[in-house]
Amino acid sequence: MLEIRNLHANVEGNEILKGINLTIKAGEIHAIMGPNGSGKSTLANVLAGRDLYEVTEGEILFEGKDLLEMTPEERAREGIFLAFQYPVEIPGVSNMYFLKTALNEKRKHLGLPEIDAADFLAIVKEKMKIVEMDQSLLNRPVNEGFSGGEKKRNEIFQMAVLEPKLAILDETDSGLDIDALRVVAEGVNHLHNDRNAFLVITHYQRLLQYIVPDFVHVLYNGKIVKSGGRELALELEEKGYDWLK
Ligand code: ADP
Ligand code: MG
Ligand code: MG
Repeated sequence: MLEIRNLHANVEGNEILKGINLTIKAGEIHAIMGPNGSGKSTLANVLAGRDLYEVTEGEILFEGKDLLEMTPEERAREGIFLAFQYPVEIPGVSNMYFLKTALNEKRKHLGLPEIDAADFLAIVKEKMKIVEMDQSLLNRPVNEGFSGGEKKRNEIFQMAVLEPKLAILDETDSGLDIDALRVVAEGVNHLHNDRNAFLVITHYQRLLQYIVPDFVHVLYNGKIVKSGGRELALELEEKGYDWLK
């Protein structure tokens, strides 16, 4: 599904990613861990196609297509979802309207007609249950005045409705509370199937107590310095990152 080859990327002229290689197949959950400042969020931002991030070498193929040639919107239409892309506040645009528009964009891309109103409502109801989201959030402007937990719930709800092929979750290092962690984990576990894949980026292994990754990679100073199974996350929790430097 995703193939990253020798990826180098700069931020404001500084090389942050220094030769990343990573292959993700459908059905897999990969975790990326690493100390602060190692380039985890940079990798997520490069995958999403943010402006600030300049790829200087290497390539990224998504289902065989050159991802780096695509705009962020095209990447989303192809089925890539970046959590934290959506928690921006969109005043004046209701959550429902936003989601329906995003879903119809995806359908258009697949050659499908606009979704029927009743069908949309049925999907929304089903997915709201997964994240135990309060119905009142549906008609409010996207994320405006939402609490941190509500934004996180809403983000996973968006992911559930859009059913991406590849979801990238950058949990940043600003610890989520235990409820938010649970929502993220339950969302991922519920949505995960053999046709999609998840890239879960996290500094702490807490989240990985709830989401069981198939592979764990350690990013250090812009490179993947170690890969392993889920036991690697436990080892990191115990020993920290210093032994890898
Ligand atoms: P992580 O997510 O692993 O903590 P980041 O990818 O956020 O690491 O950051 C990696 C390095 O890139 C850091 O040294 C950080 O200061 C630098 N960096 C990231 N984003 C920017 C930016 N927008 N402008 C300047 N430097 C940045
Ligand atoms: Mg950081
Ligand atoms: Mg980060």
